[in-house]
Amino acid sequence: MASSSCIAITTTALTRLVHRTPSIPNPRPLLLSTQLPIKSSSSSSLLNSSVAMSSYDKQLTAAKKAASLAARLCQNVQKGLLQSDVHSKSDKSPVTVADYGSQVLVSFVLQKELPDHTFSLVAEEDSGDLRKEESQETLERITKLVNDTIANDGSYKVSPLSENDVLTIIDKGMSEGGSNGQHWVLDPIDGTKGFLRGDQYAIALGMLDEGKVVLGVLACPNLPLESITSGNQNAANKAGCLFSAQLACGTYMESLDGSQTVKVHVSNTENPEEASFFESYEAAHSSHSLSGSIAKKLGVKAAPVRIDSQAKYGALARGDGAIYLRFPNKGYREKIWDHAAGYIVVAEAGGVATDAAGKPLDFSKGRYLDLDTGIIVTNRKLMPALLKAVQDSLREEVLPSL
Ligand code: AMP
Ligand code: MG
Repeated sequence: MASSSCIAITTTALTRLVHRTPSIPNPRPLLLSTQLPIKSSSSSSLLNSSVAMSSYDKQLTAAKKAASLAARLCQNVQKGLLQSDVHSKSDKSPVTVADYGSQVLVSFVLQKELPDHTFSLVAEEDSGDLRKEESQETLERITKLVNDTIANDGSYKVSPLSENDVLTIIDKGMSEGGSNGQHWVLDPIDGTKGFLRGDQYAIALGMLDEGKVVLGVLACPNLPLESITSGNQNAANKAGCLFSAQLACGTYMESLDGSQTVKVHVSNTENPEEASFFESYEAAHSSHSLSGSIAKKLGVKAAPVRIDSQAKYGALARGDGAIYLRFPNKGYREKIWDHAAGYIVVAEAGGVATDAAGKPLDFSKGRYLDLDTGIIVTNRKLMPALLKAVQDSLREEVLPSL
């Protein structure tokens, strides 16, 4: 595996890098390939001048650009969805168009930004349905949306993509991943139900190197920059958040319009009475009753914070809540794109994610995670007590089967 030298930081500087340290503004255009996550020598600098490029800086920069552009496409589609009289909330077509469009843009940008790298992508969508005759209009819409987004961004001087190009680019996502080499892992819209409701969703992009997640980006267009424990869970009219993390380099959060960058850290609390916990908004995705019983055993006082998508990992990484519990029905197989980016965003912010047996998540087995019963995420201090509460509750309550 490539080593990650990251950024050399003095001990004094490190102790000052506390919870959500303000950093240098990062104006548009969002991402230049040489841009570092934080600058080192201004009067407000928190780092000394000894800065070394890590092995994954180029890939992280490309990933941020790709996810940001895909987020713009999704924001435009969602705006139309929420304003349109034509689409009912149960109409899946906007999410279909945005899902495919996001996957095309991410794949396109990564290949443009990293022309010298071999490209392998494990992504949720394939072109099968889009190749059917009845999907012609949808394919036209996707192609137009992608071309408009690329043209408006202005970074790539290319002739417009054809419908055939779009189909070919979507199918770049069919890699099996695994424990050898580097693989991108993409959920083009995680939290499609949240997207349709106008709530939380995320463009989640991670990268595996020899089976380990080494970087991750979560674009959360509806997540406010401020803590969401205060009740304000939606920033539909604001810029939204971009989380980025790289092995041994920490986790950063910036506004999706690139105006503010901060280093984030998980909550330090050791006291479950002070901890609040996240779970899926959709009860079909995770047992609310099991997490309720775990929280009770642990002594958590706060009501659950229910939001869609890997925005939960991002919110936890910045300390909005201290615990994330996920217990799907028995037989459900978790996909790597639903967790890879979130996993490293939390891990680099000082948190830890395991399965219900306390085993680290293993992303090296292909498109699925191979795990015991559920996923739990918290800080290192709370993990032993959480694990005990989880195992006690699982002995008392059986999860329904799919
Ligand atoms: P969340 O928004 O955290 O509830 O998770 C959204 C993700 O849940 C989607 O991307 C799906 O891949 C995944 N999902 C779909 N069906 C299920 C299910 N029955 N149980 C658990 N997760 C599911
Ligand atoms: Mg998903």
